[in-house]
Amino acid sequence: MRPAELTSRRKSRQLFIGSVPVGGGAPIAVQSMAKTNTRDVSSTVAQIHLLQREGCEIVRVAVPDRNAAKKLGEIKKEISIPMIADIHFDHRLALEALEQGVDGLRLNPGNIGSRERIAQVAREAQQRKVPIRIGVNSGSLEKKLLKEYGHPSPDALVDSALHHVRLLEDQGFDLIKISLKASDPLATIAAYQKIAPLTDYPLHIGITEAGPLFAGGIKSAVGLGILLYQGIGDTIRVSLTADPTLEVKAAYHILKALGLRRRGVEIISCPLCGRSEVNLIPVVREVEERLSGWSEPLHVAVMGCSVNGPGEAREADVGIAAGKGTSLLFRKGKVIREVKEEEMVTALISEAELILKNQ
Ligand code: SF4
Repeated sequence: MRPAELTSRRKSRQLFIGSVPVGGGAPIAVQSMAKTNTRDVSSTVAQIHLLQREGCEIVRVAVPDRNAAKKLGEIKKEISIPMIADIHFDHRLALEALEQGVDGLRLNPGNIGSRERIAQVAREAQQRKVPIRIGVNSGSLEKKLLKEYGHPSPDALVDSALHHVRLLEDQGFDLIKISLKASDPLATIAAYQKIAPLTDYPLHIGITEAGPLFAGGIKSAVGLGILLYQGIGDTIRVSLTADPTLEVKAAYHILKALGLRRRGVEIISCPLCGRSEVNLIPVVREVEERLSGWSEPLHVAVMGCSVNGPGEAREADVGIAAGKGTSLLFRKGKVIREVKEEEMVTALISEAELILKNQ
């Protein structure tokens, strides 16, 4: 059987956030946002380092006031991934962020006041080749559009985004990325589907305020998965009320499930049933935890019996088919030895690490 094929990716023009290419066929970049107080440089830097380690490729920080804006340069010096300043309403914060050397702005030009202010920000961003993401959000749609459409419908989100795009284009600025986020996955999908053929600017996709880890992760996987399957999306963020490193993990799981990125250890494990002779739940948890530091791709199978176990274990780079007392250890399709139940985890992990080290 042939695997399902993704619709070819929407053609978008390419821009760069720092050194990371976005759009134009570049790999879909994983973003997250620091949840620390931006004025607190050391905790923000520490969190960004954790995000970097998890594979975050672009980080966004909130810039609520001038004190926060003034710290951006210090933060930037300590990190090695591009940083985007998230700004609302105050064009002076955008100018300060540019001065501090940020790699991108997230700002809706219609919200920063006069044409003159927009022109000033566009001019400064253009000079530094710093892209601006127009980030339309169902929770903060313009009053005028809410009145016109009655609620933040997909059409209203698209209208809002195109309005902001025009304001920048009127200034000759075109280093633009767009996002249209709603907390409802179906509304988000509809909005992105509508805007996709109307512009070739890269699209940043996400389900906003998706919720807590489990529910929010699933909601994001459904919403973003459908969009990515249709070829829509150049950068991705999973928004969770959780530790931001989990946002990055979730984003990679979504991208890996669609074959769009490969990163880290992928565990194939059986759900267990009446046939299993070993409780694999703690085993899988331990294997996942102990191999979580690797960014190199590897398939690891952890199976509960000798019915489906050997088949899956054989397909993986390394695998175990667990049985009462003894288990079979597989490497690249071949049984390499039998191991005792109590040695199963250590044997599997050592074998996995051996492959990872030699990749
Ligand atoms: S691999 Fe074996 S134990 Fe696991 S679900 Fe399948 S039949 Fe049950």
